[in-house]
Amino acid sequence: MYLYNSATHQKEEFKTHTPGRVEMYTCGPTVYHYAHIGNLRSYIMEDVLEKYLRYAGYDVHRVMNITDVGHLTSDADEGEDKMLKGARREHKTVLEIAQFYTDAFFEDCRKLNIKRPDVVQPATGCIDEYIQIVSGLLEKGYAYQAGGNVYFDSSKLDRYYVFNDHDEEDLAVGVREGVEEDPNKRNKNDFVLWFTKSKFEDQALKWDSPWGVGYPGWHIECSGISLKYNGEYLDLHCGGIDNAFPHHTNEIAQSESYLGHPWCSHWFHVHHLNTSDGKMSKSKGEFLTVSLLEEKGYDPLAYRYFCLQSHYRKALVFTWENLDNAVAAYNKLVARIAALKPGDGDVDQAVFDAYKAKFLQQMGNDLNTSMGVTAIFDVLKAKTNDATRLALIGDFDSVLSLSLLEKAAAKRESDAKAQTTQTEGGYTVTGEGDPAIDALVLARYEAKKAKNFAEADRIRDELKQQGIEIIDTKGGASWKRV
Ligand code: AMP
Ligand code: ZN
Repeated sequence: MYLYNSATHQKEEFKTHTPGRVEMYTCGPTVYHYAHIGNLRSYIMEDVLEKYLRYAGYDVHRVMNITDVGHLTSDADEGEDKMLKGARREHKTVLEIAQFYTDAFFEDCRKLNIKRPDVVQPATGCIDEYIQIVSGLLEKGYAYQAGGNVYFDSSKLDRYYVFNDHDEEDLAVGVREGVEEDPNKRNKNDFVLWFTKSKFEDQALKWDSPWGVGYPGWHIECSGISLKYNGEYLDLHCGGIDNAFPHHTNEIAQSESYLGHPWCSHWFHVHHLNTSDGKMSKSKGEFLTVSLLEEKGYDPLAYRYFCLQSHYRKALVFTWENLDNAVAAYNKLVARIAALKPGDGDVDQAVFDAYKAKFLQQMGNDLNTSMGVTAIFDVLKAKTNDATRLALIGDFDSVLSLSLLEKAAAKRESDAKAQTTQTEGGYTVTGEGDPAIDALVLARYEAKKAKNFAEADRIRDELKQQGIEIIDTKGGASWKRV
């Protein structure tokens, strides 16, 4: 596979430390709030990458942290712990907040067909590992103690800005708007490895350490968790582009200084989902969640389709209109697949292999998911039988995870169920063949005829509560489950 590597700024052939095996790490969510659909864009694209690598024959071992401590409200080691802030907002304990939003995150993932990583590790579970790394860094002279905290000494590195040719002044933590320079730091890029003192004395979770009771910095958790589960050589590290600096930059600094050798060979960054006002973020602006999409009647998988239509290295603008277009395209695709006839002939292996090879190659070109979606349309147009088409669509969908065959089967079933009930007065009820519901629709008609509109509305509401929508048609009504 060819994949863009943020560390080398170019598309490269993806190679792993151990042939055939991928050690993969993903920065997980900070669980002080629901994930917004921007966060989930990153997780959708990382999910397709993982599934593609498996599809291409790799044995993938994927690890994800859950940030339940230590991520301050500013990336610059200043401010309040985000978890503490969430707990205070909801009058709950930090651990209750963490559990609630971790479960909510995985429920969103389930709805979006995002696979759960092989290892999911809350940051609070690996304190010993962080202490070991911080001790090692102190021993090797890469860290120092000041004002009660332990800091990484960035002046000991040959190179610090690894991802971009940033303007040092723009990025320098001390000059960022609204961020006060920490007087304990020897250099502006130094960062906290272990806190014992912060501006906020009431930090809820604290642990004993050789440097006093305190808690870990944010960056150390990902190094610690990855070293524990992925080993000393990481092949692929993923995250949203906002994490490249300072989070990933600091992860590299501390991991490589601790290990004494290069650590992660490939960095995969997903660009942002933006609203018309800029980046979607948990702390400001319109906060769109999967539940909100569902409340508005959207299928979460239509959002997945929306994401797959564009490339992960381009910012994606979210508007309701853009989402509606994706819904229409997704439904049309499902309808076309539903029109195929299962069991129509045998799979033509030569055609199957040719299309599969093309899909592998197109998706393998820097995870070109829009070409992956186009490949399904190509299969629909292919000169072959439906059995081969369905086999290919199922095969591609093991990577794209749009539940295409399941949705098509459900559509076929509901279309088959559509039945017409004729009634005496020529009034026609069309539905899914459920006599009890037909009777209610009819009762509503009778109520309307008798000018008993309150009763007619009551019946409509009762049906709505059962998830049934009535559409008045010429000379009758049709109903469907929505
Ligand atoms: P957080 O829960 O804030 O730690 O973020 C979880 C993941 O979502 C990280 O990989 C972030 O880089 C990523 N992320 C944050 N905002 C966006 C956005 N608007 N679009 C895409 N990814 C994002
Ligand atoms: Zn991380």
